[in-house]
Amino acid sequence: MEPLDDLVGLARNLGRAEHDLVILAEGNCSARDGDALWVKASGAQMAGAGPEDFVQLSLDSVLSALDDAPIDDRAHLDAARRDPRSPRASTEAFMHAWLLTLPGVWFVGHTHPPNLLAILSTDLGRQIAARRLFPDEVVFCGAASCWVPYTMPGLPLALAIREAVRALSEQTQTIPTTIWLQNHGLIALGASPNEVLNASLMAEKAARVWRMAHRLGEMRPLTKREIDQIQDWPDEHFRRRKAGEDT
Ligand SMILES: [Zn+2]
Repeated sequence: MEPLDDLVGLARNLGRAEHDLVILAEGNCSARDGDALWVKASGAQMAGAGPEDFVQLSLDSVLSALDDAPIDDRAHLDAARRDPRSPRASTEAFMHAWLLTLPGVWFVGHTHPPNLLAILSTDLGRQIAARRLFPDEVVFCGAASCWVPYTMPGLPLALAIREAVRALSEQTQTIPTTIWLQNHGLIALGASPNEVLNASLMAEKAARVWRMAHRLGEMRPLTKREIDQIQDWPDEHFRRRKAGEDT
């Protein structure tokens, strides 16, 4: 399958009403395609999206803004389009482009799941991002989520994400699977559309569990040792790979 076909499928899955990850035109997703990326067009809805709702951009052209901020972000993204007749790209194309350069990342999904957003809007968000409650959260969402303090969307957010991911990667020697944006939402990274979908669904389930457990009593997150054991357990790697394969 072409990356665009996979991406359309991912958008529709992320947008499915029963998943409750986004409503209206919230969220966006992207895929790497050689030296280009496909990203959702500005204002398009993920539920029911078609190929016409995506824009192909030159990766290098978009990325040049991160080191040499353009005067006009919108004009920069418009100029990066492979086909000038295509719709305008989401303003989050800057962060998608950078995340798609990370090793093993071919698809990126950004959503606003309500239970996770509740956590991201409290003073506990940062602390919870570093914790895990149950094994499948570790398997599908990684040992910890990367925390990004609230930042205006567009280029400023892309720069804040780059700084936070680099800091976490230096510390852990790994690329995060999930990124939490304070007062904003979730980003999931994957080698396949299903890995992005699985991480997004599990992150929202984990947020529901946190909220329920928090009401019941003293929290008991997994210890570092327990998280390491889950990550080193071959069965869990197999399950994650299997669930991430395209069906
Ligand atoms: Zn958003």
